[in-house]
Amino acid sequence: MRRAAHWLATNVGEGQKFSKAQLRKAIPDIEQIDRRARDLRKYGWVINNYRDGPPGLRPDELRVAKIGDRVWELDYAAPKGDTVNAKTRRRVFDRDSNRCVVCGIGAGEEYPTLPGTHARLTIGHLNPKARKGRNDLDNLRTECSICNEPSRHLTAAPVDVGLLEAQIRELGRADKERLLAWIATGRRNFSEVDRIWMQIRQIPAPKRDEVRKVLEQLTGLTLQGTGG
Ligand SMILES: [Zn+2]
Repeated sequence: MRRAAHWLATNVGEGQKFSKAQLRKAIPDIEQIDRRARDLRKYGWVINNYRDGPPGLRPDELRVAKIGDRVWELDYAAPKGDTVNAKTRRRVFDRDSNRCVVCGIGAGEEYPTLPGTHARLTIGHLNPKARKGRNDLDNLRTECSICNEPSRHLTAAPVDVGLLEAQIRELGRADKERLLAWIATGRRNFSEVDRIWMQIRQIPAPKRDEVRKVLEQLTGLTLQGTGG
């Protein structure tokens, strides 16, 4: 794992992609070296595969989205409590309703701006530098792999800011205020209707049909679609 980290940091670099074959060729005598490279995630590294998005990776390719701790250095010692265990991850995901707190996407959902790319949830640190209390629940939050990846601007399609401002002007007053609050806090706040929708997603299909009938009666509308 240390050798893989050193090779990725010196020969690939942050934001760059590499193939599993290149890694195996660089470090030929280690079994399943790509698994060892994945272990680096515990040390602050972000390594994306083609499923994580953004697009541009082939199935045999990976991208060094973020270089983490310099684990190859002789005096490197993993900080205590640096890894987030499975139980803590579960608690953070549950608390955040299995949604990225930054963009609001749910686990496995397709990104509206990245067709074909589905969200994978990760744990983000609010204050990554603070070693003390680093893995306290209040320092952890649910982030999707795209919001968690600082170098995503290198690979995502560039955003036309002028066009964006024009779209913002078209929004109603309530949406403008909501957007301003999201920018100010760096996270998406969920409205009452969002929270109700999250609960509807958790109930079994027959119960969801009942809710749907109530809504149809209340609105006088009958919409097509299976409702998932
Ligand atoms: Zn996100």
